Amino acid sequence: MDYQAILEQIYQTVKAGENQGRVATYIPELARVNPDRFGVCLTTIGQQSYAVGDSQERFSIQSIAKVLALCMAYKNIGNTLWKRVGVEPSGTAFNSLVQLESDAGIPRNPLINAGAIVICDALLSYSPNAKRLFLDFVRMVAGNPQLEYSQHIAESEKSVGYRNTALVNFIKSFGNIHHPTEEVLDFYFALCSIEMSCEELSRCFLFLANQGKLPGTETEILNPSQTKRINAIMQTCGFYDEAGEFAYKVGLPGKSGVGGGIVAVRPGRYCVAVWSPRLNPKGNSYRGVALLEALTTTTQDSIF
Ligand code: GLU
Repeated sequence: MDYQAILEQIYQTVKAGENQGRVATYIPELARVNPDRFGVCLTTIGQQSYAVGDSQERFSIQSIAKVLALCMAYKNIGNTLWKRVGVEPSGTAFNSLVQLESDAGIPRNPLINAGAIVICDALLSYSPNAKRLFLDFVRMVAGNPQLEYSQHIAESEKSVGYRNTALVNFIKSFGNIHHPTEEVLDFYFALCSIEMSCEELSRCFLFLANQGKLPGTETEILNPSQTKRINAIMQTCGFYDEAGEFAYKVGLPGKSGVGGGIVAVRPGRYCVAVWSPRLNPKGNSYRGVALLEALTTTTQDSIF
């Protein structure tokens, strides 16, 4: 498959035909991003990378990092994690509080804010150094010791973090948060602040296309059954209340973030990351979804 030629062609088509949407503005630092940035990188499990556009420029991966926190928690805590967070799509906005009331403080899934906040709390119980250990984990799976938390993005989000503060306190009122609110939020905002380029992201998530092993090594991050489950959660819960639409159009497990990034995994073949900051009303990148839809349509290799 000539991925380079395919990506170049669909990149140009999407760039010319799709220009809707706005950058996220509710976090001040995200509002400053150039809305016209657009990049893509596909890396195969044989570690060949194919890239077009702004594929080497770092951006705020935001909620995409929630998948990595989930992987670290699942690896170290195991199935008892599911007592504190579910695996059902929420069908509500990423930052919604409403279902927590009827669900007794158990978030629907680990990829909405409520669920990722509980994962942060669980990791803090696993180790008081969870924030540093998480960065070590991300660097290890990405094969990139240079990755960092972005202090200015974390501070920016904290300055307007009313909704996430409410989520922590509300879940705490049901007994499903065990650490001080400030500590949980500090970790959560740090996690969301990581910056990566499409090239780095497509390498970082490659183990999920490779049965849980770091490609080219025998290092197992997750076992094949755990890997299947993480991919299933991304498939059903990775796109806010648009997960059905993404499965319908693209047909790959993936995760989006309000920074305009999307990472998608083709088990057994590749991982692809795309970035375009103009978002649709549900918070997903217009061009990102359009490019991935064109990719799986052209290559006919969605998982369906
Ligand atoms: N840090 C963002 C928030 O909590 C993450 C949102 C997202 O990317 O879905 O609002």
